[in-house]
Amino acid sequence: MEWAAYFDERTETMPPAWTRRLEEELLADQVARCYERSPFWRRKLAEGGVRPEQVLGAEDLRRIPFTTKQELRASQEAEPPLGDFACVDPVDVVRVHLTSGTTGKPLVLGYTPEDLKTSTRIGARSFWAAGARPDDVLLHCLNYSFYTGGLVDHDSLEETGATMVPAGLGQSRRLLELWDDLRPTALFSTLTYPLYLAETARESGLDPRALGLRKLIVAGEPGGQLAGTRSRLQELWDAAMSDTYGLSDVWGTFAAECEERNGLHFSGQDGVLVELIDPESAEPVEIEPEATGELVFTHLAREATPVLRFRSRDLAEILGVDCPCGRTGFRFRVAGRSDDMFRVRGVNVFPSSLEALLKEHGLDRFAIVLDRFPVEPPVEILVEGVDGKEEELAKAVKAQLGFTCVVRGAALPRTEEKTKRVYRVYDGEERP
Ligand SMILES: [Zn+2]
Repeated sequence: MEWAAYFDERTETMPPAWTRRLEEELLADQVARCYERSPFWRRKLAEGGVRPEQVLGAEDLRRIPFTTKQELRASQEAEPPLGDFACVDPVDVVRVHLTSGTTGKPLVLGYTPEDLKTSTRIGARSFWAAGARPDDVLLHCLNYSFYTGGLVDHDSLEETGATMVPAGLGQSRRLLELWDDLRPTALFSTLTYPLYLAETARESGLDPRALGLRKLIVAGEPGGQLAGTRSRLQELWDAAMSDTYGLSDVWGTFAAECEERNGLHFSGQDGVLVELIDPESAEPVEIEPEATGELVFTHLAREATPVLRFRSRDLAEILGVDCPCGRTGFRFRVAGRSDDMFRVRGVNVFPSSLEALLKEHGLDRFAIVLDRFPVEPPVEILVEGVDGKEEELAKAVKAQLGFTCVVRGAALPRTEEKTKRVYRVYDGEERP
């Protein structure tokens, strides 16, 4: 069956000037509502010396100070559950989700019925771009409890018309037993789950390539766009993989790769305004090809728990502002977390780039030790199993990543949590 190319053609292919008009209209309303209903946002605007009626476009928005997760958390601790940045009466909230932060207490995010509609629509545009269609039988294999990856993404995927199978996690064997009855054609999961499911299939005597799964849609993790990971997954399942991106503090999923697979298209046009800033100086960075910076988000249509100029700590590299598919949402890749990035004599270094380089040499366990600030070369890099290849690796790092380092072999700690890559010894962290 032939399907339309877009879920929402008008919004997704809007000329940039129209998108700006739409953003400006929605922004003025959002800021006015925040000012009227929330002491938190009244304080923020006062700090920037700006009146709500003066915020008419992205330029004016820069007068409002940034918001950090710590501030939102403090607001919720002082006034549980939603904090004084919330803009609705609690009785109007029909659902809450938690942020899935790896550190600290999660935030409680509220949704009104209108908020759910907005997130569903934005998510559906993203998942349609990623390949979900009404004739798919789609396995949703993320954790359904608490986080937006569960119900919020489920609603968005269902909105595409796909037949949803709410499998969740911990059901892999059962899923394989039921496979012939369900005949799934698409899978939505973390980046690593398809590897695990393929292994479980093999243990049950099944060949993953013969199971008929044709689409792998993965929830954003740095690495989702690494060529090696993609080809491995595609090969394993004989399926096409599309990466997606979302941030629970903002909306569920609001960017995804289209069939060109040349970066994540931003698809939150009428729900969030994006700024790019230099993570160290906080100066604005133009959204244009090859620009790199931290993503900063401002809601355009959030009723319950809106944020203005929220620093995501996610670093993006802009890959383009147009695409053969016709979508006009800018394209980007997530280069890592700004907490992980460091600078050596003007060169920005992301652990994800080092990870990709080491993978080419068959190595993947490493740690970067920074013992002084500003960071001066040579940078110390500890690599497990490097035996004898220290010099060769240091040369490759210099040639490909542009900074001088010393590579040493080391046994590195193993944890269940997210792997720690950067150790800021100058900041009081212990060496691994
Ligand atoms: Zn495209």
